[in-house]
Amino acid sequence: MDAGTQDGCHEDYIMNSVGMLTITDFINILHRYYRSPMVQIYELEEHKIETWRDVYLQYHDQCLISITPDASLFDAVYSLLKHKIHRLPVIDPESGNVLHILTHKRILKFLHIFGASVPKPRFLKMQIKDAGIGTFSDVATVSQMATVYDALSVFVERRVSALPVVDDDGKVVALYSRFDVINLAAQKTYNNLSMSMQEAVRRRRGYVEGVIKCYPDETLETAIDRIVKAEVHRLVLVDREDVVRGIISLSDLLQAIVLSPAGIDALFS
Ligand code: AMP
Repeated sequence: MDAGTQDGCHEDYIMNSVGMLTITDFINILHRYYRSPMVQIYELEEHKIETWRDVYLQYHDQCLISITPDASLFDAVYSLLKHKIHRLPVIDPESGNVLHILTHKRILKFLHIFGASVPKPRFLKMQIKDAGIGTFSDVATVSQMATVYDALSVFVERRVSALPVVDDDGKVVALYSRFDVINLAAQKTYNNLSMSMQEAVRRRRGYVEGVIKCYPDETLETAIDRIVKAEVHRLVLVDREDVVRGIISLSDLLQAIVLSPAGIDALFS
């Protein structure tokens, strides 16, 4: 690692001017203030961002995790995975300006395009079930009959980025991600978190049926091609009956392709 990563808190003068308000904050706010469909979430509409910031800082880490433009991509991957964040601002140390926001998706796409000129790791030819890359136990899911509030509770408690939505037999019927929660704001439906997951999925903008899946006997290379082409953050691993068996996310892939070869073991588990 070079000196380009801000691995702790940012210096004060930058903290004062730059912060991030993400969907995770929106989820935490909704989860904390929701009472029932009959009670307006007054705080959500009336509070200014500075008020949220003060409320929020009482409970959460104040650090803004960021990186400087001279840091390496390796540093960026390390920081994203170590801190379990999905957005890493690139900040000019002189001006404090945000120059760019790095995500797993952008980094993997870069590796996919430019990785063609370097030898591919051998494990890419392995089948998913043998490669051990991904999460295969204790997968957080949500029933299609559960409420949106239930899903938010899982997001808050498990800190996962998406939940396979399953029917009574455990078969995946949809995927509900943190990002989908933004539909509640766009459609002003956040006052009815008692809505079923089935309904929430059906109502989301640009609704398309189906989930991007992969199977245990497919190779990792196939999975990476699918994840890059579909521009998604994760694949749901299912058996031939469509029952959920695991998740392979960009975090798992970046860990395997970038960090593990450098001797850095899984930063999350
Ligand atoms: P992500 O935040 O999606 O990049 O994933 C971080 C880690 O959590 C990875 O090891 C994923 O395999 C795992 N993960 C993602 N979604 C779930 C889930 N619904 N249940 C359990 N683990 C998950």
